[in-house]
Amino acid sequence: MAERIDCAVIGAGVVGLAVARRLAMGGREVVMLEAEDAFGTQTSSRNSEVIHAGLYYPTGSLKARLCVAGRQALYRYCAEHDVRHHRIGKIIVACDDSERPGLEKYRAQAQVNGVEDLLTLTADDLSALEPEVRGVAGFLSPSTGIIDSHGLMLAYLGDAESHGAALALGSPVLSGRMDRDGIVLAVGGAESMEIRCSAVVNCAGLNAQAVARALSGFPASRVPPTHYAIGHYYTLAGPAPFRRLIYPVARQDWLGVHVTIDLGGQVKFGPDFEWIDRVDYRFDESRAAAFYQAIRRYYPGLRDGTLRPGYTGIRPKIHGPGEPAPDFMIQGPADHGVPGLVNLFGIESPGLTSSLAIADHVAELLAG
Ligand SMILES: Cc1cc2nc3c(=O)[nH]c(=O)nc-3n(C[C@H](O)[C@H](O)[C@H](O)COP(=O)(O)OP(=O)(O)OC[C@H]3O[C@@H](n4cnc5c(N)ncnc54)[C@H](O)[C@@H]3O)c2cc1C
Repeated sequence: MAERIDCAVIGAGVVGLAVARRLAMGGREVVMLEAEDAFGTQTSSRNSEVIHAGLYYPTGSLKARLCVAGRQALYRYCAEHDVRHHRIGKIIVACDDSERPGLEKYRAQAQVNGVEDLLTLTADDLSALEPEVRGVAGFLSPSTGIIDSHGLMLAYLGDAESHGAALALGSPVLSGRMDRDGIVLAVGGAESMEIRCSAVVNCAGLNAQAVARALSGFPASRVPPTHYAIGHYYTLAGPAPFRRLIYPVARQDWLGVHVTIDLGGQVKFGPDFEWIDRVDYRFDESRAAAFYQAIRRYYPGLRDGTLRPGYTGIRPKIHGPGEPAPDFMIQGPADHGVPGLVNLFGIESPGLTSSLAIADHVAELLAG
């Protein structure tokens, strides 16, 4: 006999934890099923830890809406729950005149997205604010920040648990089936079991498509393709030469090798971008030369031998090379026809920033 529960959230990364928190605080019984022996060990701990303002994303997209709403909610949440963060600000820099139109594009898109606090910078302003940065013009985004993502996940988990939610670690969801009485999940691990759920939210990140495909009866045509793109981060030896985050104008559909500073003051450069065909976090040290070259476009003072291999993260992509970057794909019952099921696919950046707003969106899909 399958044990009966109300809601299962598959995956305890920052998004699964935010969703579990939201549903538990809404009065639902929630169990989080996490394959690993700890929460948040995948993409949620392998990212830039930036609270994005929401400048870049296409008009009306979920990424634009949920990033702007999520960022505002996240700053409030961090202040109320003592989650370490810093509204450090970010400068976007045009390294030469050919990149000025890129800046203008950002400004226009930011305004449409409701980000109205960008400040235009001349080359002199840039030198005054960040003497080590070289560029012909730029913008300052004062509402961009950095956050302790582990502290955030702990806070979400604490809220969820204090509203009755339970976290089951070492509990991979292996398969599932739908019947008239709910969704039955087969869960592996030390004590394998079946659980019958009224609602299931698939927040399995890099594995979300595999989980959806393992639900027998779920329409295969509704599962997007699985692609991965790895990004490497190098750390900088020595004290931080910058006071803010520095981003070059993006040349492709990713944000370029940019500067982030963590809450301990450690400067990191990255992530770069490469399509890969399986999840493999190994660091490829042969990338150093390309990093030095990309960084020196805006930070000519970068000294040889000061970049150290840091870590990698893998973007959960639902499109392949050469295809236009799609939106977050968050499917509720109205999209796929299975009552009580929500799938989250392609929750790449700005998923951390958007986590509280994504959770509200999921709750609406389940309610409606
Ligand atoms: C390089 C990089 C940089 C980024 N930088 C930023 C940034 O600066 N700001 C920002 O807002 N966003 C950023 N993001 C995006 C952000 O990190 C993600 O959107 C977010 O972490 C996704 O969280 P998640 O919970 O969906 O996924 P994950 O953290 O991957 O969690 C999924 C969980 O599901 C579990 N799981 C998988 N399969 C199963 C199964 N079968 N059963 C049970 N559990 C399962 C996994 O173990 C994992 O714990 C970045 C992403 C990348 C890759």
